[in-house]
Amino acid sequence: TDNNNLFKTFAARMQARGDADFITTRDGRRYSHADALAESARLAGALVALGVSPGDRVAVQVDKSPEAILLYLATLRAGAVYLPLNTGYTGDEIRYFLSDAEPALFVCRPAVLEEARALAAETGCPAVETLGTAADGSLMERAAAATAFDDAVPRTDDDLAAILYTSGTTGRSKGAMLTHRNLGSNAAALVEAWRFTPEDRLIHALPIFHTHGLFVACNVTLMAGSSLLFLPRFDADVIFEELPRGTVMMGVPTFYTRLVADDRLTPEVTANMRLFVSGSAPLTAETHELFAEKTGHAILERYGMTETNMNLSNPYDGDRRAGTVGMPLPGVEIRIVDRDSGKEVPDGEIGLLQVRGPNVFIGYWRKPEKTKEELLEDGFFITGDLVTRDERGYVQIVGRDKDLVISGGYNVYPKEVEQVIDEMDEVLESAVIGLPHPDFGEGVTATVVCQPGAKLDEAQVIAHLQGRLAKYKQPKRVFFIDALPRNTMGKVQKNELRQRFDATYR
Ligand code: ATP
Ligand code: MG
Repeated sequence: TDNNNLFKTFAARMQARGDADFITTRDGRRYSHADALAESARLAGALVALGVSPGDRVAVQVDKSPEAILLYLATLRAGAVYLPLNTGYTGDEIRYFLSDAEPALFVCRPAVLEEARALAAETGCPAVETLGTAADGSLMERAAAATAFDDAVPRTDDDLAAILYTSGTTGRSKGAMLTHRNLGSNAAALVEAWRFTPEDRLIHALPIFHTHGLFVACNVTLMAGSSLLFLPRFDADVIFEELPRGTVMMGVPTFYTRLVADDRLTPEVTANMRLFVSGSAPLTAETHELFAEKTGHAILERYGMTETNMNLSNPYDGDRRAGTVGMPLPGVEIRIVDRDSGKEVPDGEIGLLQVRGPNVFIGYWRKPEKTKEELLEDGFFITGDLVTRDERGYVQIVGRDKDLVISGGYNVYPKEVEQVIDEMDEVLESAVIGLPHPDFGEGVTATVVCQPGAKLDEAQVIAHLQGRLAKYKQPKRVFFIDALPRNTMGKVQKNELRQRFDATYR
């Protein structure tokens, strides 16, 4: 059937919302739901005129703007596959994505148009456009002149809606193939779980090339007929101005650590807000508690990933437990298995998280071997995250399987060591990694960032750990660094740290 065609579902909602705000910006730009619907028809007309056919990929590397979301809608309308790319990617990376994905069109930023044309020619991509405005020789100008494509190409639940590359935290990014069913079911589950209504106004300061800012935030808005305030980036001054007019904010943990450190965070400024969500990286219990103390709001922490959209969420009603990511969303099943035996572990024990449900992707683009390894025959996807579940069913992320350190045959969970190091007053944050070691296989190694102005040495850190952690968990070396390497979503890039300190024990 094409009942679940994502665009048709969104369009019905947008039609009903008519002149109500869909996306607004601080510089006064505004698209109502009706505007966005009409504009997406013209953009879809431009896509068709450029030769984009159903099933074709449309690769998009553009700055955040409302028009980028119109292009996403237009791509779905044309039956094509939306493929957003991180704006941080450079020429060599783009070359890889274009040759891997073979898009029919590459939409790039004006500043790199010449380079994009060269890369497209090299990789066989037939068309390059900028997104632009209605008057600058761009896709939006083509749309203004195009015959509107008022229809929507019929798609089935199993047809691809998007290919989204993973963040590349543990290796080279992989293209996750997401269907209309994957995205539609997840958006519907979120509307229900987080009680979205047309009255909601979402403060959106995330990038729109990750699952969090694009699918979680925008699809839920489209599904519920709510509205988005698009901010180019997180800026505390702007957030404090906008909080009184918002109802929901979705953020990464760094948003919240910055907000709690600010005197302007009060119950009054957050009085109109009904929901603060955090995801993409771990939120510390300390930030969760400080935020609750200062505002009365318990941040709702949730867990998701490129391959599965949103999986787990703390409850909207009921206890939001700091340090946990809650329970599976409606329709999502989980299984926690021993990383060696593959058998399910009892509650309280650490295991690998597996997920099954209508939200789970159908495989990695052109990587059948990788797909086979991680997507099991019974439909469960191996997330690569190590977790525990408590007696009430709340799941806690312990760390990534790839970050597990095996030293002298013992499993050392970096997060456990990091938490003990972070207890020290002088420590701002830390990251524990395993490095090649001639005797132990891997040597536990700590990298530590001190609080501004604070000083520590290696011996002091080791001394603090004595008696608090078993000997085999204690770092053999401690390095002090200025900052942890993080990506735009706040994920610590442990690969970078491992490379940097690789020679330590060799
Ligand atoms: P790659 O798969 O290329 O190595 P990645 O896994 O970082 O990159 P994403 O799909 O963007 O790419 O991120 C999903 C991962 O983010 C999850 O597997 C998990 O490790 C982490 N994550 C998401 N939400 C949370 C959270 N609330 N707490 C802790 N970790 C989280
Ligand atoms: Mg991953």
